[in-house]
Amino acid sequence: MRIDIVTIFPEFFGVLDVSLLGRARQGGLLDLHVHDLRSWTTDRHRTVDDTPYGGGAGMVMKPEPWAEALSSILRSDGSSTLVVPTPAGTPFRQTIARSLAEHEHLVFACGRYEGIDARVFEWAATRSTVVELSLGDYVLNGGEVAAMAVIEAVGRLVPGVVGNPESLVEESHEDGLLEYPSYTKPASWRGLDVPDVLLSGHHGRVAAWRHEQQVERTRRVRPDLLPD
Ligand code: SAM
Repeated sequence: MRIDIVTIFPEFFGVLDVSLLGRARQGGLLDLHVHDLRSWTTDRHRTVDDTPYGGGAGMVMKPEPWAEALSSILRSDGSSTLVVPTPAGTPFRQTIARSLAEHEHLVFACGRYEGIDARVFEWAATRSTVVELSLGDYVLNGGEVAAMAVIEAVGRLVPGVVGNPESLVEESHEDGLLEYPSYTKPASWRGLDVPDVLLSGHHGRVAAWRHEQQVERTRRVRPDLLPD
């Protein structure tokens, strides 16, 4: 999979060289490129923002540098997907991560200030699929952290990135429920014991207990995930 990121803070993405994604980059499973939006400006001050039409606080990112950047990054055959992090987007979920992991080319447009001139996405939709995603119901300073979260969630689903694919199956949100609690050795620690059933060696009972735990935890923490 190829991933391009456009940002005014390329240094944010140094962490993509670390851990599983870093190894996936080195191994050629993820072809990741970070671009500085300012390299597509033409003025001496490398300006990327201007005041909003209609008034109001803050600045808006100008359309011209974005159009220049995206013209050179989006593929001409329409096969690219432009991912736009925004608190006004569709809530990002595991099902969306699964679907994005099937795409060949993802391009992330990281907004700053009050966001990017809305015409950029109308224009981009004529040459790519545009997906506006929100990380959650809160406001970050920029799209970089959100892009990073989406890249990590999608990247780990690309075949080969996580060594044991089975570890991806039994995770929170994969079957619509939160994961059961996990334990490792020692069986007794600071007066706290691992539940007996996990020491029983009885696979059926372990599976039933884990499912009960998933349902109970989901009901307690995220009742909105359960069917009515
Ligand atoms: N004025 C915008 C609004 O009210 O919707 C918020 C702008 S925010 C300060 C700057 C940028 O941070 C946004 O353009 C977006 O890229 C990113 N951002 C902020 N919160 C986000 C969230 N919850 N999910 C995804 N991206 C977010």
